[in-house]
Amino acid sequence: LEPKEEFQHSSLTADVMRPRRSDPPLAVLTQEGMTVEEVEALVESTHYSGFPVVVSQDSHRLVGFVLRRDLLISIDNARKRQEGVVGASQVVFTEHSPAPADDAPPPLRLRGIVDLSPFTVTDHTPMDITVDIFRKLGLRQCLVTKLLGIITKKDILKHMANDCQQRPRLHPLQL
Ligand code: ADP
Repeated sequence: LEPKEEFQHSSLTADVMRPRRSDPPLAVLTQEGMTVEEVEALVESTHYSGFPVVVSQDSHRLVGFVLRRDLLISIDNARKRQEGVVGASQVVFTEHSPAPADDAPPPLRLRGIVDLSPFTVTDHTPMDITVDIFRKLGLRQCLVTKLLGIITKKDILKHMANDCQQRPRLHPLQL
């Protein structure tokens, strides 16, 4: 990346991110509900290096990010080796999913290839900061997200304490 001077004129991430208004929408995968065939069609109809995984097409709440190459390799392997995986198999990026109907082909579970905490900025992050993040972390891409909430260390400790009461064998890790 070029030196910082390039972005001194108060550019925001929104000025550089894609898609632009005139572009096709962001190509995303849903965490469940797509078939192997649909995922293959999406991947083959674009050249993008990766795809955000979202909760649903309506919400676009972020689950993670999956690389094109990992998707293609996993689907190819599964088609060759995993018994019963066909074009109509459901692709599942969730940890648990409802049992498939009796006559449905077995699902293809791909949670293992999802980066579950991809780096993010907001559309209002100044570009010089975004460039710094790319440089310091050696990123190839970064997702642009909206604010949904906040989590503090105390929120986590309270949650872990509750969890412990329900499952007394577990001890909270020291944060
Ligand atoms: P690069 O920019 O390194 O060639 P990509 O091929 O992944 O990387 O991206 C090409 C262009 O498409 C970039 O402008 C990027 O912002 C955009 N892009 C990348 N992934 C997606 C996606 N899943 N949906 C829509 N646009 C994307």
